[in-house]
Amino acid sequence: MDQNPPFPSPEELRSKLSEFMQSNFGDKVSFSTIAQPDAAGSDTEEKPPGDTDEVFEFGFLPRDIKAHLDRFVIKQDEAKKVLSIAVCDHYNHVNYLRRLEREDAARAEGTEYAKQNVILVGPTGVGKTYLIKHIAELLKVPFVKADATKFSETGYVGGDVEDLVRELVQKADGDVALAQFGIIYIDEIDKIAASGNMVGRDVSGRGVQTTLLKLMEDTDVPARSANDLQSQLQAAFEFQKRGGKSKKETISTRHILFVVSGAFERLKQQVSRRIAQGQIGFNAEPRQVMDNELFQHVTTQDFIEYGFEPEFIGRLPVRVVCEELSADDLYKIMKFSEGSILRQYERAFRAYGIEISFEDEALHLIAEEAAKEKTGARGLLTVWEKLLRDFKYHLAGSGLTQLRVSSELVREPKQVLERLMAEGHEQENAALVQNARAFADQFGREHGLQIEFEEGALNRLVERAQAERMTMPELCAHLFKDYQFGLSLVQKNTGQTSFTLTREAVEAPDQFLSELVVRSHYPLAPADKN
Ligand code: ADP
Repeated sequence: MDQNPPFPSPEELRSKLSEFMQSNFGDKVSFSTIAQPDAAGSDTEEKPPGDTDEVFEFGFLPRDIKAHLDRFVIKQDEAKKVLSIAVCDHYNHVNYLRRLEREDAARAEGTEYAKQNVILVGPTGVGKTYLIKHIAELLKVPFVKADATKFSETGYVGGDVEDLVRELVQKADGDVALAQFGIIYIDEIDKIAASGNMVGRDVSGRGVQTTLLKLMEDTDVPARSANDLQSQLQAAFEFQKRGGKSKKETISTRHILFVVSGAFERLKQQVSRRIAQGQIGFNAEPRQVMDNELFQHVTTQDFIEYGFEPEFIGRLPVRVVCEELSADDLYKIMKFSEGSILRQYERAFRAYGIEISFEDEALHLIAEEAAKEKTGARGLLTVWEKLLRDFKYHLAGSGLTQLRVSSELVREPKQVLERLMAEGHEQENAALVQNARAFADQFGREHGLQIEFEEGALNRLVERAQAERMTMPELCAHLFKDYQFGLSLVQKNTGQTSFTLTREAVEAPDQFLSELVVRSHYPLAPADKN
């Protein structure tokens, strides 16, 4: 009758509240899943922040990290080396501090240390994020990436920046202790450089730098966001559960490693011009790319001139450049990186029963094409998608089982596709014919009655299987379901044990069979007499 609807599950409740908040307050108020009762809540109760003993023990050498990165990241040797050392220094120091904390808390507190935060300079798509992601994976620490441009646009500078730290907790499945050893990666940092001629950006750029700076220093971030209703609700519940005693939950940024990156477009001109002025013999033309040689000359002052606060840049002592990728590097990425995009295409085509393989010459052509995109390794994805889209569409389900990507395919994709489709058609037909013959063989073995399909019958069977979207065994079983019975009648009457099935047998199997049976009863039936 008039029953109340069942109480919604926590997920439903969350999504309903989310919708409500969005429609009433827009994006200003978020409703996230950061601190779910069964994740952050319960975990942190047992492991208060700071109690990190059993969680994380670092035991790598720089060369271990470099070797791991070499498996995935092509080129960028200097960056791999510098990052490996920085990461080791950072986490070794964390180990040291934690030991000291146990023995002599006061000394640990007083130990001075400049954190090994990193600036990665380099154009888009050359492996900056990829490097950091693989470091985090190897170390088994959570990793969060964000774009600095987001902070300046929202106006919610403080709140958003702190969300990064809370996101680390989410990535660590609610484990605050582990999150405190995470890595925060902020891309497009060059976009928050303050610049004299852009007043609006100037203000927000400086603002974001200041907030980020606070985060990079030793600060405590509340585990629950003031803008996140769910977190606040949960805090309220817990407050009630504890009989009115509130629990202070914070995440310390003391051991979080920060990596910032950007293309720093103007930096290369800035530096090469300065060097050209001061040094006779140095190429006076501003360089097109920031390479390792040029990067040697980048100073803190250059970053300050670029529009960064001295304090901000001072918190980022490790500086390294990721170089542009040449066509040959892109070839190597496809050929040798364990994360090669080719594996993705192999899986995609395998799902359609097609084994795809790649000729070296084709890979070189693709690499050259991708290099023209000027988006680093991302260009590979663009070029491959464009090239293989139609192949995926038309060859899936075409009967083709092999696809060899040759230089011809790269140069003349349309023609090759048409040929392959025709081939696929032929291959499929051949497979269907084979299956029809297999049916006939099996029929013979099982019933002692040999049947053979005429050419015309086979053609018609193939047509019908395709038109009626049936497999050949299904189609034959359906068409010839009465043939065992009918043909044994004929055998009884005439002793005949082998039969040839014509096109008509496929077209109208019952009529064909009954004519055979009738004729075996009346060998001189009127039809035969003429
Ligand atoms: P960005 O430098 O803009 O951070 P990414 O690291 O996100 O670029 O690169 C995008 C993708 O391109 C990566 O996920 C990876 O698959 C591939 N890639 C980029 N650079 C390299 C490289 N040096 N070696 C191997 N793969 C790379």
